[in-house]
Amino acid sequence: MQRKILAIFAHPDDEAFGPAGTLAKYAAEGTEIHLLCATKGEVGQWYNKDKSLKDDEKRQDKIKLENVREKELLSSAHALEIKKVEFLGFIDGELRNNIYHKVAEKIIKKIEDFKPQIVVTVERRGVSGHLDHIAISMITTYSFLKTKMAQKLYYHCLPKKYRDKMMNEYFVYFPEGYKENEITTRIDYSEYFDKKVASMQAHQSQIADVNNLLSRFKKWPKVDHFILQYVNGLTPQIPETDLFSGIKV
Ligand SMILES: [Zn+2]
Repeated sequence: MQRKILAIFAHPDDEAFGPAGTLAKYAAEGTEIHLLCATKGEVGQWYNKDKSLKDDEKRQDKIKLENVREKELLSSAHALEIKKVEFLGFIDGELRNNIYHKVAEKIIKKIEDFKPQIVVTVERRGVSGHLDHIAISMITTYSFLKTKMAQKLYYHCLPKKYRDKMMNEYFVYFPEGYKENEITTRIDYSEYFDKKVASMQAHQSQIADVNNLLSRFKKWPKVDHFILQYVNGLTPQIPETDLFSGIKV
């Protein structure tokens, strides 16, 4: 049976700054990976940089950024050998309560059509604390539990030991990260680090974040960390070093 992973994120670049190394590893080993991206990251630096822009000019700028970031995600996915990218068509910064079920409907349909064994998203504090990340984590969890089709739901997370003081300057509050005993699954992607770098560098419109994070990823061990949050029909052996452990495929 074909191994399949469905990765679900809020913005273009969440895959690159998140578990890109793991996705590249599994794709290279023959797993079919599809990526759902809820928004096109329209609310980026381009949109906000010039406060003197009039409203219609801002709209134009936003459309430009949306197009650029869509292409950047496709190019990142190409570097990682992700087979298919689908945009769910929601707006960056607007994943709010009133549309949770509209987003869930699309994710549920994708799970039913694609039938992945594994679903991957971000942990419930959204790694960086971005509200869109928190929303996509919750909506993905709801969709996983509702469909009961995939066998494992993973949250990508940042270990507490990697959360450095520089992160205090990011947004308002950067969540503290997870303790070693909270992390269930570690995936070594050292052989695929160059692919993670290519995926990150595909996001040129976000180059400041890319360079900032790349300096960290170069120092850190080439390991992605996950929390196995829910399983269907199997008994996990924790800790794990393979997303597919316990799954008969
Ligand atoms: Zn994001």
